[in-house]
Amino acid sequence: MKDEYNKMKKLLIPVILGIFFSGSLAVAESIDLEGRILLFDTSGNKGKKAKIVSMDQGRKISLGFPSPEKTDLTDTLFALHVKGIDPQLKPLVFLDGKSVDSSPVRRKDGLLYGLPCLAPEITRHTLEIKSPDDKPLSFESLDAFSLSGSFEEIHFDIAFSDVRIASQPPKHPSQDGYDALHYDLTLELDMFSTNLDNASLVFTGRATQDNLQLAALDFHPNGGAMTIKSIQDDSGTPLSYSIDSFSNWLLITLPEALSTSETFTFTIDYSGRPSTAGVWGAPYRSESHDGSRVIYTFSQPYGARHWWPCKDIPEDKATIDTHITVEDGYFVVTNGKLLSIEEAGEGKRTFHYSETYPIVTYLVSICCSNYKYVSGVYTSKDGATTMSVGHYVYPENYEAEKNGLIGTLEAMHLFVDLFGEYPFLREKYVTATHNTSSGMEHQTCTSMPERNLSPDGRHRRNVHELCHQWFGDSITMEHYDHLWLNEGFATYSEALYYEYYQGEGAFHNYVDNWVSTGISDTIPLVSSSADQFYGSVVYRKGAWVLHMLRHVMGNDRFFPALRNYYAKYAYTTALTDDLQKECEALYGESLDWFFQEWVYGTGRPTYSWNWTVEETDGSSVIKLNITQTHSGGLFTMPVDVKISDINGNSSTYVVWNDQKNQDFEIDIGDFEAFDLEIDPDNWILNRFSTASAPAPTLESVKLGSDDKTALVSWVSGGGATGGFQIIVTDDLSTWTLASKSVIDPATRSFTMKNLIPGKDYYFRIRSLSTTGQPSIMSDTYGLRTGSGKKVLIVDGYDRQAREDGVNHPWAAWHGRAVSSCGISFDTCTNEALQAGTFAPSDYDALVWVLSEESTVDDTFNSVESGIVEDYLDGGGRLFVSGAEIGWDLDYKNNGRSFYSNYLKSRYERDDSYGIYTLEGTAGGIFDGMNFSFDDGSAGIYFPQYPDVIRTNGGSSACLKYGGTYVAGIQFAGLFPEGTSGGRLVYLAFPFETIYPESTRNRVMCRVLDFFGFEAKKSGYFFY
Ligand SMILES: [Zn+2]
Repeated sequence: MKDEYNKMKKLLIPVILGIFFSGSLAVAESIDLEGRILLFDTSGNKGKKAKIVSMDQGRKISLGFPSPEKTDLTDTLFALHVKGIDPQLKPLVFLDGKSVDSSPVRRKDGLLYGLPCLAPEITRHTLEIKSPDDKPLSFESLDAFSLSGSFEEIHFDIAFSDVRIASQPPKHPSQDGYDALHYDLTLELDMFSTNLDNASLVFTGRATQDNLQLAALDFHPNGGAMTIKSIQDDSGTPLSYSIDSFSNWLLITLPEALSTSETFTFTIDYSGRPSTAGVWGAPYRSESHDGSRVIYTFSQPYGARHWWPCKDIPEDKATIDTHITVEDGYFVVTNGKLLSIEEAGEGKRTFHYSETYPIVTYLVSICCSNYKYVSGVYTSKDGATTMSVGHYVYPENYEAEKNGLIGTLEAMHLFVDLFGEYPFLREKYVTATHNTSSGMEHQTCTSMPERNLSPDGRHRRNVHELCHQWFGDSITMEHYDHLWLNEGFATYSEALYYEYYQGEGAFHNYVDNWVSTGISDTIPLVSSSADQFYGSVVYRKGAWVLHMLRHVMGNDRFFPALRNYYAKYAYTTALTDDLQKECEALYGESLDWFFQEWVYGTGRPTYSWNWTVEETDGSSVIKLNITQTHSGGLFTMPVDVKISDINGNSSTYVVWNDQKNQDFEIDIGDFEAFDLEIDPDNWILNRFSTASAPAPTLESVKLGSDDKTALVSWVSGGGATGGFQIIVTDDLSTWTLASKSVIDPATRSFTMKNLIPGKDYYFRIRSLSTTGQPSIMSDTYGLRTGSGKKVLIVDGYDRQAREDGVNHPWAAWHGRAVSSCGISFDTCTNEALQAGTFAPSDYDALVWVLSEESTVDDTFNSVESGIVEDYLDGGGRLFVSGAEIGWDLDYKNNGRSFYSNYLKSRYERDDSYGIYTLEGTAGGIFDGMNFSFDDGSAGIYFPQYPDVIRTNGGSSACLKYGGTYVAGIQFAGLFPEGTSGGRLVYLAFPFETIYPESTRNRVMCRVLDFFGFEAKKSGYFFY
């Protein structure tokens, strides 16, 4: 059977993990689409078919697609996958008339373009693709899907590339013999090509050893396309040199052997066309956007040598001056302070920038285009210094991005508070738009993909790249093996920003998402493969290690340690050891155990635990055993233990877990422990394997014939149990144990006596394992005491437990609504009804709960529909609600005749056009009522696919979505084989999602009035 719970939302296609790097594969790694939003898919087999319109003899194609529903369009990025196209081609892509990412990721299965956020004001979008040449476009299919998680967004190219990147190139021995002090780089840009003419570099270095005779710079000759014209020393004397085109070294013979501390200067004149064979595309690019040109560079990790000779090794920082000449109308953005813009003749200008803070070569960047500047000012924390902060954006994006400084300045102030003053305060912080979908944290001038600042600069990518100015740029990892010192910090900063901006809940959600996105266990954080930029290691595990370190040290020591680390290593480079020492200094003792486990080691602990309470003299002690059941070594960690009472009041204790099998005693005084959770806030990268007992299922809650006893029945979840615990409440908020002692494991029912007339009672049950470990709680079922007409609530909703392993109170919410009308009720499962334990004929109405039930869980299976048919034929009353009933029974034809003849409806559409408001029809039972059900914002739950239906067989519409599309029907009369008149109300969305509760209750009372109950609150004046 098929379950289409999430339909387009969860696309179950074959999953191949490890999309990052996999050597020389013959085929591309598939992109896992599960959990992503699909905008369209021209192959049509995933339910979002879109029609391609071909124009200009196939040289241009176009397709339209609607905005995805219920998505925060200002915060969701998408990718376009052009499958089967020759990845060497580069067709131009336009979204809603604007060009997008012109540096697509080349994959073995085609091209992948980053798409910007969809403009929320546009509901139907147009995508166009134009052939880059005169040939018709040739490809297999197009699909577009949402990006998942910050790693894909921030390092789009890395995340989707299926081509293994090069590893750190070897150092020339002479590079250990001198220190780079200063670069003075002069370039003339040709906006229409990647040719560099008349480029020159003045290099100043200092010998760090005696007898230095040779200085090697890194330089990629691109098979001879990049040439050295001359190299001269500072007196103009030519120096001899050679090029090692295997290792990409420029070997320069110094005029005389130098001694330690002697400085030397030489000038290299060069020109040519840089290699395009960069790790993620060409390091030097000349492209266009919206009819204008842009030149930009992207050198990380080893691409600087492609366009300028330099000592391209992160451990050696230097300062740099740049003199960049370009034709009028273009603006150059590069590192450091802009000192001058001078006329250079022939309609050109020269931009002179000076980066006076030490910088590594991969952070040297040029962005040049017809930018529009969003200008702002940052004032230092001490109030003494002001600095320019701004965004250079493409003019066509100005409106969308003009408020980007809001988030930028907000995050900047936060990071200044957390880490210390902004590192490049004498200069600036800006971003400049470039054409690819990865951001890059160039020092003082981050390069940003288009429209990533919209609407207010709070996008995680903006936050991430800004944080890199502290960690990555000011402190740079000394070697790529320690890349997590850059990326782990920047990734964790995203969560820190959301913690500040949206609170603790958002913070924990953000962090938890890293685990679901995937954190690798198999590669140590510090390793020679760190420069493969594995998102699951250096980014997410790196961030998680900081997260754990924060919990181990506590906020009051962790953040000061980060400040000390930053203060000590700013403007230089660091290794993991340096961070460890700064943390230990404030922690007060060695953290070697932590770093060995989490940074240099692999794996994660799996915890299993059980607990009991021992009471003596009114005081209780928790006896807790924690066992690490994974096969590897011990993980020593402080572990949070949260102990709660029956109503959720809790205290958190910390135990120091340093044995694989360990017993703890926690004195809880007179606190009445009911639940115990390990690491409830998910501070530890771990797994759980606690064998809790399988949860029992409540079968029914029924009032005894004496009107004073409740009979609670259940079925066991299977397996051995140590017994059951039932809890009871009359208000769904304050619970007590229905029986102080644990109920015998062989028992399947419980009688509660001495009920008060006219009152609600709700029950839940859980089992205990043989070691006392509780299962999760069951659903909540109830009854109301009292005589007179009576309702049976049938809970037919199983999906929530199946999907999420959780329970639901929806049957109880129906009960409260019935009770609010002064009517008594019992509750049972649909299975109890099928088994004949309950006879519908004993009740004056059935209220059937189907919520979001779907095919796989049986929306009125044949037995149930037979019971309902007999009941209605015999003059019964049925109220049923659920979002998928029509889709399942009629559209999927799992009960079309029952649907049309007994639910008196026909299915029309699988969603309500995004409408979550309802109007009662004139003359219908809800006449005069207007109300809403949950559109995802009311905190109940979000039914994504409420059916639109049509009346059938004499029914009439009683409720319409937005007053237009039928959302509910009513019927009174004979059913097909009826002997006396029955009544029916069917709502095509879940009743429990109506809010507020007072409205929900009124809806129920009107239904019961229609059923002839003379509900307590009857009389339409009441409503
Ligand atoms: Zn980063």
